[in-house]
Amino acid sequence: MTDYHNFCTKDTPKEQRDKWNVGDIWINAVHCKLCDSTARSKNRHDYVECSCGNTFVDGGSCYPRWGLGKSKDTVVKITEFFNDVDEGVDK
Ligand SMILES: [Zn+2]
Repeated sequence: MTDYHNFCTKDTPKEQRDKWNVGDIWINAVHCKLCDSTARSKNRHDYVECSCGNTFVDGGSCYPRWGLGKSKDTVVKITEFFNDVDEGVDK
């Protein structure tokens, strides 16, 4: 499993990302307030749980999928897009 952060920066343009199969999401992560840990999905098929298993994140650069946890205030979703992406899509 390759972390696309190894070969991309937040400034990598879409034209280049398409060649590498990297989507629009720069940081696809969730923070769990129950165990105070942050999980980041590093790849389209990288399913990552927080330390206590309350939540998860999946989808890497391609789509943000995350668990709501026991209640929605136990989870903070962290989604950052590449600099050339219009963030109106998912706010
Ligand atoms: Zn947790």
